[in-house]
Amino acid sequence: MKCDCCGKRKCWLEAFEDIENKDETLHVCVKCSTLLYKIRYASKNGDIKEYDSSIASMKKRMLKASSGFKEWFKNNKALAKK
Ligand SMILES: [Zn+2]
Repeated sequence: MKCDCCGKRKCWLEAFEDIENKDETLHVCVKCSTLLYKIRYASKNGDIKEYDSSIASMKKRMLKASSGFKEWFKNNKALAKK
């Protein structure tokens, strides 16, 4: 199994987060999952500085992202800038 965001292969005992996206399940590693949480939190709180820096880190991680993940990320209102 690989992370749908950064493309990192799952290590033994490592917990990946499952994200339901329409008819598929996306798998996200701990680092990417933590970053998604930060983006969601910054978006919710209107913390523009934190939001922008987290998005910049996310874009770097997403270079090998699956098309399903990119689509989910783009359409996720909780991750959008408020
Ligand atoms: Zn990842």
